[in-house]
Formats: sequence, C-alpha cells, structure tokens
Amino acid sequence: MNQLDVIVIGAGIGGLTTAALLQHRGLSTLTLEQHTVAGGSASLFRKKGYTFDAGASMFYGFGKHGTGGTLNLHRRIFELLGIEVRTVFDPVQIHYHLPDADSAGHFYSVRTHYDREKFFAELIQKFPHESEGIRKFYDELEAVYDIISSFPAGSLEDVAHLAKLGVKHPKKVYDLARFTFKSMGKTARAYITDENLLRFIDIECYAWAVQDATATPLVNAGICLADRHHGGINYPIGSSGAIAKALVDGIEKFGGEVILGRAVSEIIIRNGKAIGVRMESGKEYFAKAVVSNATVWDTFGTLVKDEKYKVDESKFITAPSWFQLHLGVDANVFPEGFEVHHIIVEDWNTYQKGGTIRLSAPSLIDPSLAPAGKHVLHAFNESTADQWTKRFSKDPDYETAKEQYADDLIARVSRVLPGLKDAIDLRFIATPLTHKRYLRRYQGSYGPLLKANQIVLQKPQNTTPVDDLYAVGDSCFPGQGVIAVTYSGISCAHIISKKFGVKFEYV
Ligand SMILES: Cc1cc2nc3c(=O)[nH]c(=O)nc-3n(C[C@H](O)[C@H](O)[C@H](O)COP(=O)(O)OP(=O)(O)OC[C@H]3O[C@@H](n4cnc5c(N)ncnc54)[C@H](O)[C@@H]3O)c2cc1C
Repeated sequence: MNQLDVIVIGAGIGGLTTAALLQHRGLSTLTLEQHTVAGGSASLFRKKGYTFDAGASMFYGFGKHGTGGTLNLHRRIFELLGIEVRTVFDPVQIHYHLPDADSAGHFYSVRTHYDREKFFAELIQKFPHESEGIRKFYDELEAVYDIISSFPAGSLEDVAHLAKLGVKHPKKVYDLARFTFKSMGKTARAYITDENLLRFIDIECYAWAVQDATATPLVNAGICLADRHHGGINYPIGSSGAIAKALVDGIEKFGGEVILGRAVSEIIIRNGKAIGVRMESGKEYFAKAVVSNATVWDTFGTLVKDEKYKVDESKFITAPSWFQLHLGVDANVFPEGFEVHHIIVEDWNTYQKGGTIRLSAPSLIDPSLAPAGKHVLHAFNESTADQWTKRFSKDPDYETAKEQYADDLIARVSRVLPGLKDAIDLRFIATPLTHKRYLRRYQGSYGPLLKANQIVLQKPQNTTPVDDLYAVGDSCFPGQGVIAVTYSGISCAHIISKKFGVKFEYV
C-alpha cells in the first residue's frame, strides 16, 4: 500500500504536465493511459507515410524568452526538464474567410498576423470607420495580457502564492480582479458598433472557445488574442505528438513511469479519501494522491462510483464535439502562400451550428509530416454525439453517412481549395463517437463551458470534493486548449507539492 506518491489517470497534456513536474520535484508518479498513444486530444496517428495531429495543431507557449512574458509555458517546462522540443514559427495564427454583411454570397478575408500592425492594417482596411475602436478594443486585451504575462504560473488555491502576487504586483492584481468580471463581447461593444465587425470578434472567440464573445471571459481572450502577437504560434516539429513525447521523456528521465493501453475503471475511495485506482483488468495500484485527467463528467460520473459526487449536468454547458476529416493530399492543391490554419464561416446564422469549418495543414511548415509531393489536411467542424447515435447507432448505414458528410465537407472546403476532391490521396474520418471511444470523453465533448453569467474563476480548480483526489485538464481552470491545460497541470503540480511539503519551483 501507498508505495507511490501520485497516480495520474490519463496521459493527456494536463496529466502528463502534472506528472512531469511532480516527478521532477522528486515525487514518485505512475501515469496510466487507456489509449496506446500519449497526448489525448493533442496526440498523433500515422497512416501510409502521413503523420496526423489527432486534434490540436495550433500551439501557443513556445515563445522565446523576452517575447511572451511568463506565458511561454512549454518552453519553460521543457527547459526545466532538460528536454528539447524543436518548433517552427508560424507567422499567421488564422486566415479567416467570412461572409459579408449583405449575405449576398460575398466574402472577405482577414489574417491574424503575428505582426500586430499588419493585422490591424488588414482589419482596418475592411472596417475603416472603426479604426479607433479596433485599436482601443485590442489594447484592452493587451492590458489583460500585460498583467497575466507578468505573473508566474501557480495555483490559485495556494494562499501563499496569491499573497506573493498581491505584495509584488498590488495594482495588477486589483486590475485583474476587475477584468475577471468582464466578457470579451461586452468590452468590444464599449468601443465598436459595426455589427459585422462584432461578428468578427465573435468568431475570434468561437475559433478556440467555441462560444461567442459575450460568453467568453475577457481574461481568457486576453491571453489567446494577445499572445499570438508576442510569443506567437509555433508548431512542434514532428506533430502535436512531439509535446506529449517530450513530457513522457521528462517523466521517465526523472524516474517516473507512464503505462499506455491500460484503462482505469475506478478510483478507490476509503473514508472520503482517494487511495488508489482499480484497472479494467482488476489490478489495483495505491498511492497517497490520485489525479484524474478525465473530464469532470467521466471522473465523477464513472470513475468515482459514489453517486453523491456526481456532477449535475446543468452545472456547465456541455461543449459539442467534432466531425473530423484527415486527408493526405497532393501538394499542388495549395495555392502559393496558403496559410497553415484557416476558418471558413459560411453563414452567420449557422456559424455555431456546424457552419464554421476549421482547416489545418501543418505539413506546409513541417514537411516531415507527409511523403514528398503531399501534405496533410485536417478539416473539422462542430458536431454532437447524439447527432450520430440518434441517427446511426447500430445502423449499417453509419459508414455511408460518414462518407456522405465527408464528401459534403470536402465540397465546402473547396471554396478555398479548388480541386480538393481530385487531389485526395488518403482520407480518414472521425465522428464524435470516434472521439468519445478513443479518448473516453463524455459525449466526445470539447469539455465543460461556462454559462454566460459565470466568471472564469467558477471553473473547477484542481482540488475536488474527495480528499487526495485532484483533477487536471480542460474541465478545470482556465479551460480548453493545450496551453490552458498546461497551466492546469502546473497549478495541479503546485497544489500537490504543497500537500507533500515539497517546495514548488515556478517554471
Ligand atoms: C479537433 C480538436 C482540435 C483542437 N485544436 C486545438 C488547437 O489547435 N490548439 C489548442 O491549443 N487546442 C486545441 N484543441 C483542444 C486541446 O487539444 C484540448 O483542450 C487539450 O488537449 C485537452 O487536454 P486534457 O489533458 O484536458 O485532456 P485529453 O486530451 O482529453 O486527455 C485525457 C487523457 O485521459 C485518458 N483517459 C480518460 N479516461 C481514462 C481512463 N479511465 N483510464 C486511463 N486513461 C484515461 C484519455 O485517453 C486521454 O488520453 C483541439 C481539440 C480538438 C478535439
């Protein structure tokens, strides 16, 4: 009993970050992952010479020191672990293709350049009458960014950490507390009146928060939409899987263990304390603390058996899942200068109902992902598990329906990539059911989202109602996205270090 210090359930980026930092601080960790690869939504798979990102392709957190304040968390963690992750710089975060206000089939495009002035020039060219409002609004985001990027990452549950911030940066802490109650949408409306520009700001949020600007906390937006002009977007060479691999290497370097292909079926709780886990095989492991990287619904609806801990469905909004199409394509389908990440909105009335298509073609900057003369292309849009189960569960036509949906998506993407259909060398489809099965995510969901009247601090932190059971990942503060779950991993390691009386070293 209790030979291990910490068991981590799940080798997503949240779980791996926690394990790596704790192991580095001298605690013994065992990470148990049900899938055969590490990384969760930020893992990879390979087919016929192509390497695909299973989910995430756009990465923050690798900025050089001096460009991104303290928010270059991946760089800091890998330096601490002494593990190298090579990256390639991507000068444009997203190229947007958006419907014009008249909805008469006209579209305009805006690229969110690393160079802030270049981004402003493009946006102001489209909305010259809002030039002052644009600058004032994005300056507000910059102000939030300036505060957060000057704080070291740590747990908001550690009073000593909060006190240190308060003493060192009293004004910044006060200002941040004020910003916490603001939404991105409300802030935008203080400076901007053009409805079409406000829609652009909605899609800027929806791109990563899957909510419109009014529902997106200003604090989160301040990081994502400002850091792209500081630390920037950098792609890990070899795919998203390079991040997970480097974290696993870090864990093993300091003596920890990561076991793949082994599912946890139960968190063992005695007298209100988590003391270990039971595997699907029946094997049991015991530790002084358990961390769950599963979603809040999977942790407290499946792994913790006691019904009293079950999380009320109505507590959060359940984000949708994705229909994903992974393609290997002929290189000549891409026009000269085609950016890596694109978002196509077909109609503002349906942009939150499957009418937004996201595209990523990371082999354009990392040729190692595809055979010579080819590229990878990931096209995906919002979909829900029940959209597929209701229509297709146990239905022999499920495969046909998937193929039809994929054909339709390819036709829609062809607006920016004419000739795509004839350039396809390989195609691989994943529905929300695939996402649910491979990652054990409740309904394949992108995770819990805050309701419009909730503030970002209402996202669960890392401690849970069960003693010695901690949570990490996109169900926790600050939320979805690889850099966000990395933050969650840091704060989880911080609060667990406290429990063990081990000094937590800021990254
Ligand atoms: C299609 C898509 C595109 C995205 N694009 C981006 C992007 O470009 N940029 C970005 O920053 N973010 C992006 N994201 C979001 C980002 O990938 C996620 O927010 C983040 O990776 C979630 O990490 P996590 O650690 O919380 O959880 P997960 O990635 O879900 O990892 C949890 C792990 O726990 C394992 N697990 C669960 N239950 C058990 C169990 N019982 N036993 C053992 N193991 C278990 C799972 O198999 C999984 O590996 C995208 C997500 C998706 C789905």
